Amino acid sequence: MAETHAFQSDIAKLLRLLSQSLYQNREVAVRELVSNASDALDKYRLLSLREEGLPASDGLQITVTPDAAANTLTIADNGVGMTHDDLIENLGTIARSGTEGFSKGLEGADANSLIGQFGVGFYAAFMLAETVEVRTRSYTEQAGWRWTSAGTGSFTIDELSGDAAPPERGTEVVLHLRDDAKDFADPQRVEYVLKKYSSFVPHPIHLAGADG
Ligand code: ADP
Ligand code: MG
Repeated sequence: MAETHAFQSDIAKLLRLLSQSLYQNREVAVRELVSNASDALDKYRLLSLREEGLPASDGLQITVTPDAAANTLTIADNGVGMTHDDLIENLGTIARSGTEGFSKGLEGADANSLIGQFGVGFYAAFMLAETVEVRTRSYTEQAGWRWTSAGTGSFTIDELSGDAAPPERGTEVVLHLRDDAKDFADPQRVEYVLKKYSSFVPHPIHLAGADG
């Protein structure tokens, strides 16, 4: 059963601006999502060293999958994942420093220059996607959750169980690409963007389909 939650009002405003952002800013979305994936891997590595009984942290990686047939770009990691409440707290409010700096700057200044200056965080996904789907399973539980939003006023959360449940710990962010961002389903385009912005990410990034 899906539940619907309203975004904090600042987010709704941010999303409107991001969805109108200039073409050249869009690559930032990939950078932000890869950086979140990398953070999630760092968190898991740290936890697995501190907490007994957690599986070791070898094999931590980021997988980026452009899929032209499905018109999607997916950024996946096997990091900490998120619980139901994590999803509401982390992807429903502007509590994060980078995003907060951005939205404070919005009073007055031009959004497009701010997008280049600040990290806009997760919501940058809406520069590329008409719908964003987050499929995730926290390292703390067996249940998986799906967060979905079309970037308007609200998001929904529903439980993924049985065959639909993510088999592994971690998070998959599926961008259902906008008509004007279909180029991000092209492995060569994505490879270029990863080289440009994510070459110092301290985890392996596997680009699916790049050598096909
Ligand atoms: P920031 O990265 O600056 O905290 P973001 O807007 O990029 O802000 O992300 C918000 C929060 O959402 C993160 O702090 C994290 O808690 C959560 N999050 C986003 N992506 C992931 C992910 N791939 N795995 C786990 N948590 C994530
Ligand atoms: Mg981030």
